[in-house]
Amino acid sequence: MHATDFVELEEAYGAHNYHPLDVVIDRAEGVWVWDVEGRRYLDMLSAYSALNQGHRHPAIIQALLDQAGRVTLTSRAFRNDQLGLLYQELNALTGYDLALPMNTGAEAVETAIKLARKWGYEVKGIPRHEAEIIVASGNFHGRTVSIVSFSTEPQYRDDFGPFTPGFTVVPYGDAAALEAAITPHTCAVLLEPIQGEAGVVVPPAGYLQTVREITQQRQVLFMADEIQTGLGRTGRLFCCDHEGVRPDVMILGKALGGGVYPVSAVLADRPVLGLFRPGDHGSTFGGNPLGAAVARAALRVLRDERLAENALSEGEYFQERLAEIPSRHVSEVRGKGLLIGVELKPEAGGARRFCEALRQRGVLCKETHQHVIRFAPPLIVDRPTLDGVLPLIAEVLALP
Ligand SMILES: *Cc1c(COP(=O)(O)O)cnc(C)c1O
Repeated sequence: MHATDFVELEEAYGAHNYHPLDVVIDRAEGVWVWDVEGRRYLDMLSAYSALNQGHRHPAIIQALLDQAGRVTLTSRAFRNDQLGLLYQELNALTGYDLALPMNTGAEAVETAIKLARKWGYEVKGIPRHEAEIIVASGNFHGRTVSIVSFSTEPQYRDDFGPFTPGFTVVPYGDAAALEAAITPHTCAVLLEPIQGEAGVVVPPAGYLQTVREITQQRQVLFMADEIQTGLGRTGRLFCCDHEGVRPDVMILGKALGGGVYPVSAVLADRPVLGLFRPGDHGSTFGGNPLGAAVARAALRVLRDERLAENALSEGEYFQERLAEIPSRHVSEVRGKGLLIGVELKPEAGGARRFCEALRQRGVLCKETHQHVIRFAPPLIVDRPTLDGVLPLIAEVLALP
């Protein structure tokens, strides 16, 4: 079969809820993927940061295989010998007292929403079913009905109502607007420390710190969605660490599964996450031993290979080199660590054609929000590899 055959199969038998580049991948290792024709590409998307440790990291694959040979699923009706160890290691790494495991990012966000509401009723004393959560314009927290209820992207919402009430949207990066939106019924603020899907939108310096101070003063939980920015991507363990901010609720996903298995989690201290009682919340696959073993290996790799440190040094280097590329199309290069967005001018005709041109040259990335090219390679990427790709990016940005 040829690449076009696989593309045709997907088009013929699958729902068209994505618009992928027509590269058909059948093998991957580290920062590289190969298509069915044997062409090699540098992966500069990393499955939206789910592949921070690189493709098929040997230690993570070994953990997967070892665990698959012992026990894969117990359900939470019983206990297993991996989950407790994952909890302990998350606590040691992050300092949060407790964790609640789920599978996908959206499920972890839903979990955090339920947790914030429960805290609002039981601790803050908000009248039942009147809790409000403040979110930011341009947010991306997933695709469930409740989550798209507070999206500001028309396509994510248009045909999917009726929506879940209880959310207030304020402009991203504007702490004064956020403070003004707080009412006695506000239980939480939910934010991405950098908005990845919105086009790598970095808030003004000090924003997270100010939000932390405001939420502390007003008895409101600060919930950070670090599903994309967390686990080393921006050059620190969490993006909030850049401002020395510790949110009350930390939401993780993507790279927690080491690129092989969906694992997400909500982290918080005992006065918050301790509120859940048996039966309040759950998931058949959440906390399963296969996922827990994979997550433990994913965290070990992150720490042992100092991936956050590598993201910081290589990200800074790469972002500087990108900013030096002369191009009449580029309006801004921004980001932190290895989460970098190159914003194109509206006249450039959209980022898609540049991604297609990069693909022709062996570089895989994806447009985000029409006018932004996101560069987010696995955090194991080294300097020679980045140096190799820069002339190709320069070539593409010089296109008419
Ligand atoms: C990807 C992402 C999610 C959703 O995660 P899924 O695993 O796709 O459900 C939520 N928030 C952020 C910031 C993300 O990048």
